Amino acid sequence: MDLIFEKSVAGRRGFENPRSDVGIAGEIPAKYRRKEECPLPEVSELDVVRHFTKLSQRNFSVDTQFYPLGSCTMKYNPKFTETVAAMEGFSCLHPLLPQLKQGERLVQGALEVIYDLEQLLCEITGMDRFTMQPLAGAHGELTGVMMIAAYHKAKGNKKKYIIVPDSAHGTNPATAAIAGYEIISVRSNQDGGMDLAELKDKITDEVAGLMLTCPNTLGLFDPGIDKIAAMIHAVDGIMYYDGANLNAILGRCRPGDIGFDVMHINVHKTFSTPHGGGGPGAGPVGVTQKLVPFLPVSLVDKRKGGTYYLNYDYPQSIGYIASFYGNFSILLRAYAYILMAGKKGLEDVSNHAVLNANYMKERLKERFALAYDRICMHESVFSASRQAERGVHAIDIAKFLIDQGLHPPTVYFPLSVKESIMVEPTETESKESMDRFIACMFEADELSQTHPETFQGLPKTMPIARPDEVKAARDINTSYFQSR
Ligand SMILES: *Cc1c(COP(=O)(O)O)cnc(C)c1O
Repeated sequence: MDLIFEKSVAGRRGFENPRSDVGIAGEIPAKYRRKEECPLPEVSELDVVRHFTKLSQRNFSVDTQFYPLGSCTMKYNPKFTETVAAMEGFSCLHPLLPQLKQGERLVQGALEVIYDLEQLLCEITGMDRFTMQPLAGAHGELTGVMMIAAYHKAKGNKKKYIIVPDSAHGTNPATAAIAGYEIISVRSNQDGGMDLAELKDKITDEVAGLMLTCPNTLGLFDPGIDKIAAMIHAVDGIMYYDGANLNAILGRCRPGDIGFDVMHINVHKTFSTPHGGGGPGAGPVGVTQKLVPFLPVSLVDKRKGGTYYLNYDYPQSIGYIASFYGNFSILLRAYAYILMAGKKGLEDVSNHAVLNANYMKERLKERFALAYDRICMHESVFSASRQAERGVHAIDIAKFLIDQGLHPPTVYFPLSVKESIMVEPTETESKESMDRFIACMFEADELSQTHPETFQGLPKTMPIARPDEVKAARDINTSYFQSR
């Protein structure tokens, strides 16, 4: 497809404002103005509309395709919450308003949303307070680990290490390292949980805490969780819960009740914001009492008279972690979604997420090697090891699925499983769409036996064929993508 610049015809316009016949107030000084015309494409309104409409139709999205991308799945993105987020009373607020004396009274509704959402998230997770500031899951993790560091500093603890299991999401060790800790990795045992004997060997007084993705990226709940928490707490370590995929346990189990002290939630995964392309998102971080003093400022508190205000009076706070109050409209979507679902609705989310994932697991294991054959939570991990012996790898199967009009599952993650294919159907997919996916996976397996050469050069239906991934990752140059 041509670039919009290639459609440019000199002098063509969609719309033109009449020249101003009054002087321009506050004109930008000449030295800052560009000397030449800006080289924008010269196109008509229709050219623009058609160009961008065509591009948008090439999007792979949850609105058009099944999206079983494990761990980072597009979960439920109802249109209702989009309507709420677009309400002018919220969307037209200026972010500086609450800091003005008169302004505070104009944003009481928005402050109430943040306050109420905090109460709801506390109830859902068993935490005591939440900060809404972090802008993504990984940002939430960094906030959490910075609070862990502040806690140890305040107590005079000498701590150096954060423990992370080998099945962790990659952001866990990355954030702990950015926050200045050294990482101790612990192996998974044969059930996909943390190896307790190895953990015991590795715990010392210098351990600041442990980060656990739970259920982990294998889609498994760690049955040793209470023992793990007791071992970490015995050295005054902090238990960090990566709650990115809260749809697995919503309404069933609360991290605060099973020994965790701090956690983040990806509201852009579990609570209705479309998640993709890196954002925008929100990663509220919840803490139990012992970490409350270290939360970022400001927090929304309620006065006796019932009004809400931004409270900056937290002397031990780690400070600001984002500008203003976080991604407010994302928080608003989460709030609307939680109220819409209610307690029963949230329980249904985890019921269906887990039921769907187990249905997929039971069906797919007929043809694909299953990494851990246990009841799973929201996702399960397969291996294309049998197909790989026939020369058809996980990546080939992913490209095959694209040609069938399906978004591929996550492949080659987690790293602890060879040729991994991580499937998360989510709570909202019907049996029919899951069956269609299963049928395509079976067809891929069949073809790997009868016609393995079919997979060469897939996908065939996309504007871009298969990029040279190694080259593309090192040197971003679109000519490495063979465009059709
Ligand atoms: C998505 C995810 C993250 C990171 O969240 P971002 O919002 O993408 O930064 C962390 N942990 C797990 C388990 C995830 O699935």
